[in-house]
Amino acid sequence: MTFSVRLAVLPGDGIGPEVVPAAAAVARAALDRQGIALDTVELPFGAAAIASHGVPIPGSTLDALAEFDLWLVGPHDSASYPAELRHPAPGAVMRKQFGLFANLRPARAVPGVPATAPDIDLLIVRENSEGLYADRNMAVGSGEFMPTPDVALSVGLVTRAATERIAVEAFEAARRRRGHVTIVHKANVLRLTTGLFRDVCLQVAQRYPDVRVDTEHVDAMAALLVRRPADFDVIVTENLFGDILSDLAAELSGSLGLASSLNSSADRAMAQAVHGAAPDIAGRNSANPVATIGSVAMSLRWHGERSDDARAVRAADAIDAAVAHVLAGGVRTVDLGGDATTSAFTEAVVDAL
Ligand code: ATP
Ligand code: MG
Repeated sequence: MTFSVRLAVLPGDGIGPEVVPAAAAVARAALDRQGIALDTVELPFGAAAIASHGVPIPGSTLDALAEFDLWLVGPHDSASYPAELRHPAPGAVMRKQFGLFANLRPARAVPGVPATAPDIDLLIVRENSEGLYADRNMAVGSGEFMPTPDVALSVGLVTRAATERIAVEAFEAARRRRGHVTIVHKANVLRLTTGLFRDVCLQVAQRYPDVRVDTEHVDAMAALLVRRPADFDVIVTENLFGDILSDLAAELSGSLGLASSLNSSADRAMAQAVHGAAPDIAGRNSANPVATIGSVAMSLRWHGERSDDARAVRAADAIDAAVAHVLAGGVRTVDLGGDATTSAFTEAVVDAL
C-alpha cells in the first residue's frame, strides 16, 4: 500500500514545458481521487539544462532520477543545441544508463475523433537499445562513422539476449490483449541482423502456444497497416523499424499528438510521448497534451501492476477514460481540428476526472 508516488518531471524542449506540466497535473488529480499523493520534483533536462549546467542531461539529474518511482520526460530538440556540444541525446543517455530496453507504443483510435483507421487498436513493442540506433547512446558518431568525407557507415547490432527479452515483453502483452503477435523484420535483405531478431522471436513464441504468431517484412507491414490496420494486435520489432512504424500507426489513429509511449526496464519506467519537440508550434499553448497525458497514465499502470496497488491502476484507467470523454465531447486541440488550447483541454480532463 503506497501513500505517495514520486514522479520526476523533466519538461524538456519545444512544447515540453506546455504538455509535461499538463500531464503531471492530470496525474496528480487522478491519484488524489484514489487517496495517493503525487510528489513531483522538476529536474534540469534539455536546452534549460544546457543553460544551467552546460549539458542537456547533467549528472545531478541522472543521480536524482534513481530516487523516483516514475519519470515523466518531455521531448528534446537536439537539433537546436550548439553544434560544438558533441553530447549524446539526453533521452538516449537515460535509456542507456537505466537499461530501458522496452518501448511500448499503443495506437488506438478514439471514438468521435477523425482517424484514417478508426478501428486501429494495436501495441508496438519496440526494442529500444540495439539495431542501427545501438550507439546513439554513446559518444556522438561512435555507431556511425565516415572513413572519408564522401563515405558514411553505420553499424547495426542485434543480440539474442536483447531480442529474447523484448520478445517476452511482446508475448506477455499479447496475453493481456487479443493474443496475437506479429514479428516485423527484413530478413530477406538484412539476413543476419533482422534474421536473428525474427528467429529468436519465433523461438520465444514456442513458449506461448496460446498466442497466435506471424511474421512480416517491414515494408509489407507499412502497407498492411494502412490496408487492414484492425488485423494487428501486438507488433514486435527492432529499434528503427519500430520508430518509423509507430509514427505511421499514430497518424492512422488520428494524430501524432495522441501517441503515448512508455520506456521501461524490469524496474524503471519513463513516460515520454512519441512526438518530438514540435518547435513549429511551441510557446503558443496549442500543442495536444493527450500523448503525454496517456504516457503518464501508462507509467501509473506499470507502477500499480508492479507494486500490486490497484489504486494506481484505477488512476491510470480514469485518466484514459477522462481523455476519451473530453475528446468525444468535442473539446479538441488544433491538430485534431478543434480550437481548444493546451491548458483548456487539460482543465477539461481534470474536471472530467
Ligand atoms: P523528433 O525527431 O524529435 O521525433 P520530429 O521531426 O519527428 O521530431 P515532431 O516534433 O514530432 O517532429 O513534430 C512533427 C509534426 O507533428 C510537427 O508539425 C509538429 O507540430 C506536430 N506535432 C508533434 N507533436 C504534437 C502535439 N503534441 N500536438 C500537436 N502537434 C504536434
Ligand atoms: Mg519523430
